[in-house]
Amino acid sequence: MPILQLSETMVNQIAAGEVIERPASVVKELVENALDAGASHIEIVTAGGGLSLIRVTDDGMGIPASELPLAVSRHCTSKLSDDINAIHSLGFRGEALPSIGSVARLTLRSRTADSDSGAEIAIEGGRMSPVRPAAANRGTIVEVRDLFFATPARLKFMKGERAESTATSDVVRRTAIAFPAVRFTLAGADRAILELPPVGDDPKGRLNRIARIMGAEFPENSIEIDAEREGVRLSGHVSIPSFTRANALHQYAYVNGRPVRDKLIAGAIRGAYADVLPRDRHPVTVLFLSLDPAMVDVNVHPAKADVRFRDPGLVRGLIVGAIRQALAQAGIRPATTGAAGLMAAFRAETAERWRGNITSEWRPAATQEASRTADFIYEASPHRPLDHDQPIGTPVNGQGFAESGQAMFDAGPLASADTRAGWGVANDTLMGRSLGAARAQVHQNYIVAQTHDSLIIVDQHAAHERLVYEALKTALHSRPLPSQMLLMPEIVDLAEDDAERLALHAETLRRFGLVLERFGPGAVAVRETPAILGETNVQQLVRDLADEIADHDTVDTLVERLHAIAATMACHGSVRSGRLLKPDEMNALLRQMEATPGSATCNHGRPTYIELKLADIERLFGRR
Ligand code: ADP
Ligand code: MG
Repeated sequence: MPILQLSETMVNQIAAGEVIERPASVVKELVENALDAGASHIEIVTAGGGLSLIRVTDDGMGIPASELPLAVSRHCTSKLSDDINAIHSLGFRGEALPSIGSVARLTLRSRTADSDSGAEIAIEGGRMSPVRPAAANRGTIVEVRDLFFATPARLKFMKGERAESTATSDVVRRTAIAFPAVRFTLAGADRAILELPPVGDDPKGRLNRIARIMGAEFPENSIEIDAEREGVRLSGHVSIPSFTRANALHQYAYVNGRPVRDKLIAGAIRGAYADVLPRDRHPVTVLFLSLDPAMVDVNVHPAKADVRFRDPGLVRGLIVGAIRQALAQAGIRPATTGAAGLMAAFRAETAERWRGNITSEWRPAATQEASRTADFIYEASPHRPLDHDQPIGTPVNGQGFAESGQAMFDAGPLASADTRAGWGVANDTLMGRSLGAARAQVHQNYIVAQTHDSLIIVDQHAAHERLVYEALKTALHSRPLPSQMLLMPEIVDLAEDDAERLALHAETLRRFGLVLERFGPGAVAVRETPAILGETNVQQLVRDLADEIADHDTVDTLVERLHAIAATMACHGSVRSGRLLKPDEMNALLRQMEATPGSATCNHGRPTYIELKLADIERLFGRR
């Protein structure tokens, strides 16, 4: 076959293969055009998941009638002069409209501010119609019908209306975060309406828009980021470690206002949270980077969602540093959703019990001469689990209100009259502290404490694990941790490469107080263990460490690796749930938590304590 020049339409359809993947990509390109045109209101309407119709209406600067043919022609743009390094707009390639026009039926109708009549052009499967006059408000309306009618192969790959609709909403939401001053309306027979009113383009307005999109609970569970390094500015919000998701889809990143998907940014976020989150949890983040356009290449892929930074190290360092610092500064701060969820659970149960009283269930049971105590309510709803249904005032295991933890207080050495008085005084001071005064230990793991205006429940296992971890990390920068000698060295059999890896890290492990050496092929001998861990299962500890080191060896920096080792050790050394604590031990733990940054979450990112405000408790009981 001879070599031939491809037709204009073929070229456009090939470009469309990359730029226009699905209806959501059309919406993305059209919304970007509207934003580049300075619109303050953008209205998007779709039908059939966007495959039958997409219409984007804006009140931007419009296109003069004489330029309409250029707008739908390839490589024609009003946004780029001759410096590819100075891109200040979202678009710059001049290929979105011709690409769409080559695979769909597109009409472009527009009017500029200084013209008193509008004009329209159409392009269908690459065939352009002449420009004709049309009535129009100031701004532009782009209508795209029958997407991919000209490329049936692509049409087959569409996932169904629902999925395409969702992808479109996602594009609009993602973009809208970066333009809080613009009103967005997304509507159509195939979707619920999404209306985003304009808010100020200041920190308050931005957070307001973010809350509209990420959910109202995000602002109170996030911290603000604002940092700058060598001309690169980073701002936005990141969630506290107890507010996470199971995947990274809720991480939004913008470079000079452009929504991007970027491995470097995602990696930096992971690095920043490595300390406080398990690997399968992901923070929710909204981060804006602004920098000189010459410092970043956005011309990586036709969809313009990938970027390359001139100085990736600088950007990564800025993100990791800024997030870590913000997390540290936030200090102890439990997730409010923990408490909110608890409140909701309380409410639901109360409501249900209340309803239970008036259903028919109640009467037949009553006629069976069941007693009129609260117990009876339980019998009337046998489908409900026992634990959660123990009616108020019913003796628990015949002990009345005295839970075993409380009983321990009474039986302990502090139970004498004088000490009790002493506690009374001490309590008042302790109650002024942020984690308050310990009052009881329940279910052998939860410390109940009281401040002047709240009730605090601490997960002692999680809290202690965190404290041990922080102590281990501190040891990295100061003297090695004390160790305790084993009477007999303990031999641990391992895979050869695990043994080798451990031996390689022997010096590091020694800093933590773990002394081991090679013991023939496929084994190590452990001579000393970290004193901070107390009695510990050496075999398990060494095996876990081998796993951890293998996991982190190739990818992470030394510091990340050391922290991972510390986390693994901490897990072995913490007060297991089930250990009874004395009141002074509990108070000591609370004070240590207050003094330790980051102790509001355990190493796995779960909260170490929750706080229920007295006001909320009162609300639960209908006192407010
Ligand atoms: P690009 O955005 O890369 O320039 P497009 O194919 O998306 O390429 O658009 C081509 C040109 O059409 C733009 O440069 C712009 O001048 C004009 N245009 C497209 N959409 C609009 C709009 N909504 N308002 C004003 N001008 C527009
Ligand atoms: Mg464009």
